[in-house]
Amino acid sequence: MNTTKRYPILNIWADDVTMESALEKVVEFVEGDNRVHTIFAANPEKNFSVPGDPILYEKYRTADLLLPDGIGIVMAARLLYKIPAKRVPGCEFMQETCRLAAEKGYPVFIYGAEETVNAKAVQTLQERFPGIQIVGRSNGYVPAEGMDDLIDRINASGAAILFLALGSPRQEQWLARYGSRLEHVRSCQGIGGTLDVIAGNVKRAPVVFCKTGLEWFYRLISDPKRLKRQRVLPVFASQVLLEKMMIKIHR
Ligand code: UDP
Repeated sequence: MNTTKRYPILNIWADDVTMESALEKVVEFVEGDNRVHTIFAANPEKNFSVPGDPILYEKYRTADLLLPDGIGIVMAARLLYKIPAKRVPGCEFMQETCRLAAEKGYPVFIYGAEETVNAKAVQTLQERFPGIQIVGRSNGYVPAEGMDDLIDRINASGAAILFLALGSPRQEQWLARYGSRLEHVRSCQGIGGTLDVIAGNVKRAPVVFCKTGLEWFYRLISDPKRLKRQRVLPVFASQVLLEKMMIKIHR
């Protein structure tokens, strides 16, 4: 059992994990105690959305794994705690979890996104990770009256890993409401818009942007609608610097 440090970063938290150690946690979740373990992504946008939403806050506070998804979180962890943090992007982690699931034979259920996106993403994952058991899937537009059926389908599928691709805070709200009815799921990751990326609807940034920590910038110039979401980045950066100054003053 590996014990993972969790660092507070302004209003949220991130775990001191690498891709490898985070995948080891998934093995622990699936093969360990009989409950749903939750995995979410920590990024600067969440620093502003989480405190204002009690359900989101509770889900993040009690999450079993908080991935250092955004470059802002990683830079903040390095600056505030001097740890050699590296990004573990939720989108890549989801696919590495699929690789692991294929190797270990863990059954997977994929819930979320538009019907065509969900179907295409499932097909792509099956091609990318031969042998993966995707035992069920559903688009993310199931009406409230269809929810009992969906829960029955997830339970009957025997899925140990559930990916929730409803966007935030919808996926956290769904878990708060229905999580206790999941019988076999042991690891549940909120993956936001990842299925759109896998299905090829949304392109990930070219490698050069990812390696230089400028994925956010690529996403901004390729989709200016994101400006609203990303305008929090400079505020986040200045708050982290202020926090660093406060730590120095109080030392
Ligand atoms: N979505 C869904 N059901 C809904 C609303 C949204 O399945 O009722 C899906 C949507 O199709 C998209 C994802 O949720 O695939 C939201 O992606 P976004 O990038 O906005 O999420 P984030 O990563 O920001 O949480």
